[in-house]
Formats: sequence, structure tokens, C-alpha cells
Amino acid sequence: MTTFSELGLAEPILKALAHEGYEAPTPIQSQAIPHVLRGKDLLGIAQTGTGKTAAFALPILNHLELNKRKPGRRACRVLVLSPTRELAGQILDSFRAYARFMKTTMALAIGGVPVGRQARALMPGVDVLVATPGRVIDLYDQGAVKFDEIEILVLDEADRMLEVGFVHAIRSIIAKLPAVRQGLFFSATMPKEIADLAERLLREPASVEVTPVAKTADRIEQSVLFMDQGAKGRVLADVLKSEPIDRAIVFTRTKHGADRVVRGLAGAEIAAEAIHGNKSQGQRERALQSFRQGRVKILVATDIAARGIDVDGVSHVVNYDLPNVPESYVHRIGRTGRAGASGIAISFCSGDERDDLKAIEKLIRQRVPHGASSHPDTKPDPRPAPGEPEAAAAGNGRGGNGRGGNRNGQRGGNRPAREGQRPGAPRSGERPSFAGRNPAPAPRPETAEAKHAAPRPASQPRPAQRGDVRRTSEHELAGVQFLSRKPTRDANSSARPAGNSPRNPAR
Ligand code: AMP
Repeated sequence: MTTFSELGLAEPILKALAHEGYEAPTPIQSQAIPHVLRGKDLLGIAQTGTGKTAAFALPILNHLELNKRKPGRRACRVLVLSPTRELAGQILDSFRAYARFMKTTMALAIGGVPVGRQARALMPGVDVLVATPGRVIDLYDQGAVKFDEIEILVLDEADRMLEVGFVHAIRSIIAKLPAVRQGLFFSATMPKEIADLAERLLREPASVEVTPVAKTADRIEQSVLFMDQGAKGRVLADVLKSEPIDRAIVFTRTKHGADRVVRGLAGAEIAAEAIHGNKSQGQRERALQSFRQGRVKILVATDIAARGIDVDGVSHVVNYDLPNVPESYVHRIGRTGRAGASGIAISFCSGDERDDLKAIEKLIRQRVPHGASSHPDTKPDPRPAPGEPEAAAAGNGRGGNGRGGNRNGQRGGNRPAREGQRPGAPRSGERPSFAGRNPAPAPRPETAEAKHAAPRPASQPRPAQRGDVRRTSEHELAGVQFLSRKPTRDANSSARPAGNSPRNPAR
């Protein structure tokens, strides 16, 4: 197995890694670091939790260590762009941790905090600037930062930039870069617009891809429930009361929707906090802190706000609204089932969202099983059974109110009924149940690598090799296994959450 010292990293970095307690590089790290050290551009397909931050931070710091020079006034040598403030803060924390025995200068430029202080921090020039694209463009327009000394640009979670509406800002940053520079581009998925962006930034990039490996215990159990839009609040309250929830993130499409859900849950005596772009940075941090510390078990979030939230122990993800960007589904459900835990992802689908569901299923190449709920507001599965033509089933579920007609997910044989449960016969007074979700693994591509990576029998655990590498479908979701991110300080907050590792003290 490769070690960090075999990768050729400089001594102060190796010392910092030992201090962090990292024993060996993760697959994305051992694949990516040699390319970046050689100065190659890099296209990395990897989700958060695979160790990708260190995959770019370590070779960047190595470059800075071997090529020490003082940046000019207002200049930065490395610019790291992140789609959200929270993620930007976490990236900076990682850089600081890995550079703890170096004299690297760093700054953070994110929205939601006064721009003046950030401009002052940039005045003498910095080695590493971690930023959200909108704020860094503001600073550039004010003349507070220059891009002409950039040696390395990192675009992290590029696909999320699409949703946050940063693609234009990024194009404009790329256009201002010096001709000679290194580009590192990370994305979990590669929709066309993102592939175009990668093409603009990168020149003959090396490409690495890691897909987390499925392990039986780590599966995310997915299910979908069909209902009218107006019934979602009632069904949600019921789901949250009946499921064994440690922590749940409920996703809504809009900020107002998130607030409405929180109010509705309050009416059902379920405490929840909303986190979205209309909240101040302070409110977002407080909500996150409550969620991390378990004071509030339910966080209602929009996609954008949820990006970069890295909390372990999320037992449930509920898609109150289905995302209209199918890639978001992958990101959303990846919030649960982390760090070896099992996770449950329940999606609500109204009549208007059927196309969104179809797009998601196409992307993940998997049918999301119908959840077995007997809640009177849920409807039968309107989808045609596999192999059945669409038209034949077009009327299914339409106009049906689900009362007494719930098929409990049996259509198409996605999964067995719960023992003793008769399809189509909800029992009065019974709580909605989601038992028997998706017991079978998703279909895997039959490649040699996929076979190599297939889940092992329980008798052959492989505890150390988290996030193994293989080339396969980008969107394989049979179960995802992630490294858990240590709780890090939120951007601009000096407080660290409880449970902070002694190896990683507040900086
Ligand atoms: P990331 O995918 O960059 O969000 O990293 C996820 C978590 O894995 C972070 O908390 C890192 O501190 C941790 N991590 C990254 N690389 C390693 C490694 N080689 N060994 C152990 N933990 C790691």
C-alpha cells in the first residue's frame, strides 16, 4: 500500500499528517497526488467524504513548500473555489491543519460577512485563498484581489456550482487567469455544463475517479411515496414520528418551502430548524450547531444551504420536494449512510414531480422502490411495472386517493411485502411503515473492476480501505461509504462543535 512518504510529500506535511492521525492515503489521494505533484491538470470525479480535500491540498502545500516566494500585494498564488461558505470554511480548516508546520499564509473570502475585513486580509497577498465565486469576483471588481499571480486554481464540487448559479462567475474567473497555471477540478457528477467548464479550465488533464464501495451495512435504503403536493406536510409529520430518527435532513426546493415545512412541523409538535440562503450566516451556524449537537433532530434545508454541511449520524434524508436537477438527488441522499452507518432516504413525489423522478431514476440507473406506507394520503405507485409499457399504467394512481387502494410497493416486485402484510390492505390505526425498503443491491455494471469491488461477505470485512477506487458508473448508489469528516469549525466561527478530536484542536 502506498504511504504518504512514498508519495514524496515534504517533511512538514508528513509531520502534520501524522499529527492528524492519517495512516495512509485514501484511494483518491494516492491516485491524484502524484499527478498534481508533477504539475499536471487534474479532473477528479469524487464525492465529499472520499478524502478529496487532502487530495488537492497536500500536493498544493508541497508545491508552496518547495517554491517559497512572497506573493505580491493583493495577489494569491492558489485560489480554491467552493460552492458554499460552509464548505469553503472546511477547506480552509483542512489547509490549516495540513500546513500547521509550515508558514503558509491563507485567507477566506465568502459571502455573508463584511467584505472590508476580507479585503484587508488580502492586502499583503496570500499563498492560499479559499473563496466562494461570487465574493471573490466582488473583491476582484473592487481591486482588492488580483489573479495575475495565480499558479493553481482548484474548483471543488463543480457540479454544485451549477445549482448555486456560479457557473458564470467561474467562467469569468477562468478568463482572467494567467496563461500558465495548473487547474484542479473536482466534481461528483459530470453534467454537460460542468464538462464544458472543465474543458475551459483544464489542459490535457489526468483523470481520476473514485466511487465509494458498497458494503451491506452501509446501504442507503431508498424509497419513494406518491401523494398530492398538499398532503406532503401531513405525511412528513407522520414519517418523522414513526421512523426511528437520530438526525434527519428534509430537503425542500425553495427557501419559503423550507420555512413552511418548519412551521407545519411545529404545528405537529415536531421541532425543526430551517437552513437556507435567506438566513444570516449566524443563523445558519446556530441551526447547524444545534443539529450537530443533537439539540434539534430535524434540519429542513434547500440544496444550496445543505451543501457542505458535513454531519455524521444523519439517519434519514427526506426529499419533501424532489430536486429538479437529478444530480442533487445523489448529493442529498449521500448525507445519510456515512461513516459506516446505514441510512434511509425517503422521497415524496407529487403528480407534478413524476418527470423529476424519472430523470433521477435514469441518472442512477435504478428504480427507486415504492415505500410501503399505509398513510391515507399516500397513493399507489403510478409507475408502470418494469417491462410494462408506460401507457398501460398511465391511469394508475391518478385520481386514486390511496384509501384502501395502496399497493404497498408491490407493483413490479421491487421488494417483498413486510411479513404478514397483505398488499392493498392497510390496517386501521397502523402507523405508516417503510419496512422492507430496497433490500437488494442496485444493479452493478459487469466490469472486472465492478466485480472486484462487489460487496464482500460479512466474513471478510475490510475496515481500513475506505472509499476504494475503481472506474465504474458515476452514479452507483447501491450504498456509499464515506470517510467521516471530523467536525470542523464553521466558517467565521471560532467555536468548535462538541466531540472535536484532540488531534484536531481549534485553530
Ligand atoms: P473530504 O472528502 O475531503 O471531505 O474528507 C473527509 C474526511 O476524511 C475529513 O474529515 C478528513 O479529515 C478525513 N481524511 C482525509 N484523508 C484521510 C486519510 N488519509 N486518512 C484518514 N482520514 C482522512
